[in-house]
Amino acid sequence: MVRARVTVTGIVQGVGFRPFVWRLAASLRLKGYVLNATGEVVIEVEGPETTIEGFLDSLRSEAPPASRIEKVVVEKLAPAGYLTFAIRRSEEELPRNVFISPDLAICADCRRELLDPGDRRYRYPFTNCTNCGPRFSIIEHMPYDRGRTTMRVFRMCRDCLAEYSDPGDRRYHAQPNACPVCGPRLWLEDSRGRKLECDDVAREAAALLRRGKVVAIKGLGGFHIACDATNDEAVLTLRARKFREEKPLALMCKDLAQVRRLCLVSGEEEELLTSAGAPILLLPKRDPCAVADSVAPKNASLGVMLPYTPLHVLLMEEVDFPLVMTSGNLTDDPIAIENSDANRRLSEIVGYFVMHDRDIHASSDDSLVRGGNGAPFMVRRSRGYAPSPLALPLDVVPTLACGAELKNTVCLAKGHYAFLGEHIGDLENELALERFERSIARLSEQLMIEPEIVAHDLHPEYLSTKFALAQSGVRLVGVQHHRAHVASCMGENRLEEPVIGVALDGLGYGDDGDWWGFEFFRGDYSALEHVGTSRPVAMPGGARAIREPWRMAFAFGHDAVGDSILKMEMPWSDESSRQRVEIIHQMLHKHVNSPLASSCGRLFDAVASLVGVRHSCSYEGQAAMELEALALQGQTQDRYPFLVEKGSHVPIELDLRPLIEALLEDAMRGSEGREMARKFHNSVAEAVIGGCGIIAEETSLEKVVLSGGCLQNVLLVRLLREGLSREGFQVFTQKEVPPNDGGISFGQALIANGATSR
Ligand code: ZN
Ligand code: ZN
Ligand code: FE
Repeated sequence: MVRARVTVTGIVQGVGFRPFVWRLAASLRLKGYVLNATGEVVIEVEGPETTIEGFLDSLRSEAPPASRIEKVVVEKLAPAGYLTFAIRRSEEELPRNVFISPDLAICADCRRELLDPGDRRYRYPFTNCTNCGPRFSIIEHMPYDRGRTTMRVFRMCRDCLAEYSDPGDRRYHAQPNACPVCGPRLWLEDSRGRKLECDDVAREAAALLRRGKVVAIKGLGGFHIACDATNDEAVLTLRARKFREEKPLALMCKDLAQVRRLCLVSGEEEELLTSAGAPILLLPKRDPCAVADSVAPKNASLGVMLPYTPLHVLLMEEVDFPLVMTSGNLTDDPIAIENSDANRRLSEIVGYFVMHDRDIHASSDDSLVRGGNGAPFMVRRSRGYAPSPLALPLDVVPTLACGAELKNTVCLAKGHYAFLGEHIGDLENELALERFERSIARLSEQLMIEPEIVAHDLHPEYLSTKFALAQSGVRLVGVQHHRAHVASCMGENRLEEPVIGVALDGLGYGDDGDWWGFEFFRGDYSALEHVGTSRPVAMPGGARAIREPWRMAFAFGHDAVGDSILKMEMPWSDESSRQRVEIIHQMLHKHVNSPLASSCGRLFDAVASLVGVRHSCSYEGQAAMELEALALQGQTQDRYPFLVEKGSHVPIELDLRPLIEALLEDAMRGSEGREMARKFHNSVAEAVIGGCGIIAEETSLEKVVLSGGCLQNVLLVRLLREGLSREGFQVFTQKEVPPNDGGISFGQALIANGATSR
């Protein structure tokens, strides 16, 4: 007889872990107890040693689907003579690590009950259990308990309470447990907020969608705006009212069979779609494809997800077409989460609202994963993932990292873990700033992290920077944007040793106050030395040059061949554009409103315009995405020339003027766009590999870490991976944390700790 004290850390509360342990112990006839301590589950089991070994194996291998075990510590003790196995009441003790479960997609059991006419929860849109349902979005305070969630206003009926109290039941301590007798309710409203009488809201909403109506639907972490994705007119109406011209819209499909009819999907991707995270997955579109062209115009991919709440299941059962399911907001505002706010902000967009009375405390936009490349990676990490712990390669002091400006997320870190918060969006208005501040307050309270370090971007005008600088009693650490990108990739891959870091990005504030975005580093978290860049090029018109790639095309062309660019037959050289071309030409010569940038993103924009793909954008990254899609059709292995030189203030400067000059010649000759686009991709990869080669010669570093917004380009990633591996490098990219600015806060937290421990 032996006794073991087992401490399990991770997402082990509110996910059915204790009843699982109870059932497991009972089946093995072990005695002892299980209890929730703050942030961990403590178990004592007593019995024959071999049985206890079996218990420990099953503890990991059979753990409930929604749980995530980070660590199991086993201590052998002298037997205590337990007579039963009990679930003990939680002890109040000093907290060490607190973990918060993300929201979870509806499980198979709940789904079956939902559609079973004999079940007491038949067609009940708020059914859930310990394996599924809302968590993060309804938690107001920790520890996780019904009384500290937005479910506290609903008093459980006798039946629900019986399930909740029975360790043998799937709903034992399922905090959001509810049924039609006692739980939240659904109703339908028109855009003026008048309640519409109907027997079955899901059926009625489905009927409206079939008639081409645009309907707002309150979901798990916010409102969606939905319409029939096969109805071009409905989609165009939605776009016009939402002021969203061309940016692709996400779809919800009924099941995998429907996904397979629209897209190419691998086995691994199907698993991702049906996982508890249930993200939107970007997949290659089939040709022909049944959805309206206006869903994702000129885009080779579709973003699809499966129903992840009972309400979605009910809706999708009633329609035989995929639905557009886009965030309930105007253009780039944060997603609406409150009924009154949704009504105010969305009533111009939708005709009807499907409302409910379970409040959403924290917003959680749908997560977005890019697939179709054999290695799916996160583009937006939010619902279903945030704020799951990310294990760190080093110990950190309590830290708040405020992120960047676009695609903002905040990150809290302590000890061995970082917690990346929900997607906030572009921090460019009051609404977003308010959401940002609320996210920080909520996460630091719930995770019990009182920051000693506050990390921020170097850009003085970012609202996130201004927020950080207003904090007192903490150590403020400014972290350069691209070092944060590189560290975010290092951290995710749990690298501690010195590496070569490459950031291929849009724009970030550099050490010198100039715009950076094509940068080489070497070192570790304590110091990432800036060792390379690309020759900076002016952005005529500043921010307008981001929206209008033709300006960048002109600037890159002008930099490469001087005024002879004016004589070339270019998309902008027709009579009507002569004047605006002359204006930016003057701006370049006089250095007026033309900040210099060494940006990979702007280079892609310029080339997209030079090969004729796109001259002006209606959303961020559009030109580069279309250039990638075109390059994927190209075959050539050729590349353009470029120079690697000694820079004026860094050891390496890539000079891409020969590339642009050769590309202009190709364009004049009328070469095929897809071959030029491919050749350009080959060249950028080759230039990066060349830069890494020079750094490696001096340092013998073998690990190359790649990050930044341009790493969302899967062709570029493939070329870099192949080329760098061929040169003997070990290549690291991101999977769980977005390579774009959504991952910046995570990297900031690591650099800030590395820098202060130096
Ligand atoms: Zn369930
Ligand atoms: Zn009930
Ligand atoms: Fe960036």
